[in-house]
Amino acid sequence: MPEAVVIVGAGQGGFQLAASLRDGGHPGPLTLIGEEPGLPYQRPPLSKGYLLGKTAAQQLELRPAAFFVERNIELLAGDRVLAIDGAARIVQLASGATRPYGHLVLATGARPRMLKVPGAELAGVQALRTAVDARALLRRLGTARRLVVIGAGFIGLEVAVVACELGLQVDVLESAERALLRCVSAPVATYLADALARRGARFHFSSAAEAFHGEQGHVRAVLTNRGETLAADVVVVGAGVEPDDALARAAGLQVQGGIVVDAHLLTSDPAISAIGDCARFPAPYSAQPLRLESVQNAVDQARCVAARLAGKPAPYEKVPWFWSDQGENRLQIAGVAEASDEVVLRGAVGDGKFSVLRLRGGRLTAVESINNAADHMAARKLLAAGVTVTCEQAADTSFKLASLAAA
Ligand code: FAD
Repeated sequence: MPEAVVIVGAGQGGFQLAASLRDGGHPGPLTLIGEEPGLPYQRPPLSKGYLLGKTAAQQLELRPAAFFVERNIELLAGDRVLAIDGAARIVQLASGATRPYGHLVLATGARPRMLKVPGAELAGVQALRTAVDARALLRRLGTARRLVVIGAGFIGLEVAVVACELGLQVDVLESAERALLRCVSAPVATYLADALARRGARFHFSSAAEAFHGEQGHVRAVLTNRGETLAADVVVVGAGVEPDDALARAAGLQVQGGIVVDAHLLTSDPAISAIGDCARFPAPYSAQPLRLESVQNAVDQARCVAARLAGKPAPYEKVPWFWSDQGENRLQIAGVAEASDEVVLRGAVGDGKFSVLRLRGGRLTAVESINNAADHMAARKLLAAGVTVTCEQAADTSFKLASLAAA
């Protein structure tokens, strides 16, 4: 009897794993369980085209319903896994159903970090993680005049760009001294923040929300720790996410800022794997185990587990990459940088097309590209091959990075 695989979480990673398992010929029962209703969908457009009305709800879906039927993938949508019985190898669902597994994969993603300040429960204060969140925000942006975004991270900046385009007055509150502090180098962050400021957004750095004021249960203003009062009809909290590891924790799996997995993405129980936003994994290019929040990471980890379950095990060693679309600007990142990395500018910021190469100890660690797909693609190849560049080559735009990758 072939092994039954049960996947908890029908998001980007869970969907990809189910698809890759069937593509790879997995013959056994395959169940994909998702707490959210409806078909598995992609999140990136939720903070971009969907809010602008350019991406319809149906276009978010990763595949139509027939895809799951044709591949004999049992999709249990709108049901939550409440508990894992690791000894009996059974999961218990909120509906009362149970499913036995030979192998279980946790692809539970992450949940937005909400603020614990007075007024946080007011209508109009929301995060943006799910299609339901996005629908609510779309509706609110349709009538709102003033948006306050809390957190100048990727999602906060993307929403702010859209809101400016829709004609709202936008204030961005950020507790750090600049945007994207933990994510990208100063030149890239400054470029994106300046572009947003030119659209009319106002930044409030080193500022935190202390309270929300409301009228009749609806948010009307944000009070900051610097004594400012920012009028708001809608507030988007983009204060980062926490890995959704409660189920794993309750099942006694090792959890430490995410579900701890080994190089093959196996948890401390060899019958259970974890992938995507919820997993903390050892990476060859990082001294510390990593937890990444990106489509690439969820998809490639799903493929890695699918290959292992098909009898072709290999450690997970993919070079991470990521993108963020902010109006006319596309940021692409390859690799993983640390704050201490040397920063080499390639191209002129004023041209609106440049890259920043990050090096540590003479070794290339990451490349951040603005509107420069060629540098990004070359960077992915260089990082995968472990080829480094000198600072002189990095800064010289006439030097083709791709030539090193080819060599
Ligand atoms: P998810 O896609 O979050 O799926 C996890 C699923 O598991 C959820 O549906 C959840 O409800 C479900 N679940 C959790 N617990 C249970 C349970 N006990 N039982 C049943 N189901 C459960 N990445 C990029 O690379 N580029 C971008 O431009 C980009 N933009 C983004 C914009 C937004 C607004 C958001 C929210 C994310 C964006 N991301 C982007 C990040 C990317 O979408 C995530 O990294 C990716 O979705 C992670 O996939 P995942 O499968 O790990 O988790």
